[in-house]
Amino acid sequence: MQTYEIIPVNVGEFTAFEKSMFVYRKDYGVKLHAPFIMYLIRNKDTCVVVDTGCSDSEWSMRHHGYSVIRQDHQMPAQAIKRLGINAEDVKFVVNTHLHWDHCFNNEQFPNAKIYVQKRELQYAICPLPQHYSHYESLQVGLTPPWIKALTRIQPVEGDCELLPGIDLVLLPGHTPGFQGVLVNTDQGKYLIAGDCIALLECWDSSGNHQHSISGIYNNLEEYCASLAKIEQLNVADRILPGHDMKVFEHQVYPY
Ligand SMILES: [Zn+2]
Repeated sequence: MQTYEIIPVNVGEFTAFEKSMFVYRKDYGVKLHAPFIMYLIRNKDTCVVVDTGCSDSEWSMRHHGYSVIRQDHQMPAQAIKRLGINAEDVKFVVNTHLHWDHCFNNEQFPNAKIYVQKRELQYAICPLPQHYSHYESLQVGLTPPWIKALTRIQPVEGDCELLPGIDLVLLPGHTPGFQGVLVNTDQGKYLIAGDCIALLECWDSSGNHQHSISGIYNNLEEYCASLAKIEQLNVADRILPGHDMKVFEHQVYPY
């Protein structure tokens, strides 16, 4: 089985994000400095990019009401260049889901196929009104950012292997077609859980199953089933979240 390393890349930051959007019915009014995380999975043969981050601050403020910091070196193509990889050479991009802050820069990888769950694509065309802004949807006069690279989108259905040692895992709840990425490393499997587990504190490692879900969701029952599915993956201390600054305490996983 192939093994990989996983590098978290900071591609922008919310300066004061409402924490209850990450932890359902907790910590109302608490503001977080929260990064947008692009994960790079690589070994000597290949690399895979998971999620492509957010817009600039002006766009974010206008359409989402949040200020973000995104410096030039945090643009995804520039950020991975600093890791020795040209964006043109990336053949695989995975979007965990199609919220604007996870797919905004797909077009910066011009030769990549972009792997998205079919359910997510279907929902993103016509989401519930409460989710229009998360998808920058057509219904509010915007062009969803993933459409910029539409011709390279590769729909997938359910759990499937992306490459030997890298599996896509359907984890609906935060969105209908949310997927995590399960990565084989020489220290066991890691799960890039993204917004399904937005902060490390959302995962209850005690065995009491008291995980916190995101404050943004479309289906609580599916969400809870997805958390049970993650428990079965036995990755409890090897979960990589969607928006937690603590991820950057290590430059590479395994560490
Ligand atoms: Zn999201």
